[in-house]
Amino acid sequence: MRGCNNMCSFCIVPFTRGRERSRPVDSIVKEVAELWKEGVKEVTLLGQNVNSYNDASEIEKEVETGTNWKYSDGFSSMCKVKEVGLRFSDLLDRLSSEFPEMRFRYTSPHPKDFPDDLLYVMRNRHNICKSIHLPAQTGSSAVLERMRRGYTREAYLDLVQKIRRIIPDVGITSDFISGFCGETEEEHEDTLSLVKAVGYDMAYMFAYSMREKTHAHRTYVDDVPDEVKQRRLAELIEAFRESTGQCFDSQIGSVQLVLVEGPNKRAPDTELIGKSDRGHRVLFTNLPLRNRNEDGSQARNPVVGDYVEVLIIKSTRASLFGEALAITTLSSFYNNLDREAVANAS
Ligand code: SF4
Repeated sequence: MRGCNNMCSFCIVPFTRGRERSRPVDSIVKEVAELWKEGVKEVTLLGQNVNSYNDASEIEKEVETGTNWKYSDGFSSMCKVKEVGLRFSDLLDRLSSEFPEMRFRYTSPHPKDFPDDLLYVMRNRHNICKSIHLPAQTGSSAVLERMRRGYTREAYLDLVQKIRRIIPDVGITSDFISGFCGETEEEHEDTLSLVKAVGYDMAYMFAYSMREKTHAHRTYVDDVPDEVKQRRLAELIEAFRESTGQCFDSQIGSVQLVLVEGPNKRAPDTELIGKSDRGHRVLFTNLPLRNRNEDGSQARNPVVGDYVEVLIIKSTRASLFGEALAITTLSSFYNNLDREAVANAS
């Protein structure tokens, strides 16, 4: 999907990309089917606010009109949705069930559009990666109001809690802006404390830079001096380093399903690199492996596009290093995990 219907006061996107337009579900399914035939194993669904996806093209045929758009609890938007069609959870449901061996990610969502059914479809489908980008922008409710983000710090933290309750192993990433118009030291401290409270896997962080045509340009004064913005940004990055490091360290001892992306550029002859479900970069020694699902198969070196089971043994707090155990398939890896969970519970 393209465009954005929101009017965050710092952002130029609604003026440059226009209003939200969603591609019909069927056209996306058709394109993914072509990619699957070509051997693609992972697809990232893209949109400025990808989870505001709304395919109203079939509205007369399949979808009841006049249904209210359900936002995440405590979130609102200045723009009301007039025609509610197939939503993002419907798209993910369809793709993940039609392509069970393909992994799906999406970026970039808006926190206002995480209704419960989206979280449950993510939890229930092994091939939807357990990684959510949840742009906060700031941890201060007063700054959020000036930014016209449509939520408070408390609503954001409640959403994080709910996401973790429904999807316990989820990795959360974010975006932050330091030094927005009128930001006080106390408001900056609120952002640092939010970062520590949430514990993010990763974040994009910037010092505020005013853009012409925006609401902030027309209404506010860019009054935080540059050196203060830079100092606050440095403090934010430091808070992140600690929070991110803990997220990476927490993976040690777990077995992760890694989709091989290629040789590690720093050790191309001996190491492979790939991504875990949660989006962490995982390195491992390139050795011949047995295929978990083929009895008596010859061991072979993994290649790009293979799923490999990797036991995580080390964290550099920016990537993980592990011992590769076997080549596998996505469904067999998670079916084994499900069986183990049932056995452990009984
Ligand atoms: S920050 Fe994101 S949600 Fe807000 S106006 Fe820009 S693109 Fe839209």
